[in-house]
Amino acid sequence: MRAHTHYLWFNTEKRQDIIDITDDVAAQVSEAGIREGFVLVSAMHITASVFVNDHESGLWHDILRWLEDHVAPWDPERYHHNRTGEDNAAAHLRSLTIGHEAIVPVTDGSLDLGPWQRVFYGEWDGQRRKRVLIKVMGE
Ligand code: ZN
Repeated sequence: MRAHTHYLWFNTEKRQDIIDITDDVAAQVSEAGIREGFVLVSAMHITASVFVNDHESGLWHDILRWLEDHVAPWDPERYHHNRTGEDNAAAHLRSLTIGHEAIVPVTDGSLDLGPWQRVFYGEWDGQRRKRVLIKVMGE
């Protein structure tokens, strides 16, 4: 079995953002040179997410809107966590809701995604350096 590890770095201009990283993940699968296996894509932060969904800008807007309106509004006063002096409790809750990692199968040397599936990095507290782990395993 072969294993290949790579880190993607981000420093988003906006505090919340959604970035399509599918091509970066696919490039690491090629680099690993495996034919069969899987790739783990994991945000190395407690205020970010990795998820699989649709590359459609209206949907990204809807996801950000849903997180703000129905999951965890960016309202620092309402959270206990922010009594520590932080203001990012909402980002922690968004990370919990969306999840921090995704596993994508690799078949015949390529990401085996459904026709509309893409891999995304969800930044919920950006404007600073953060990273995602890509670990390709297989043979
Ligand atoms: Zn925090």
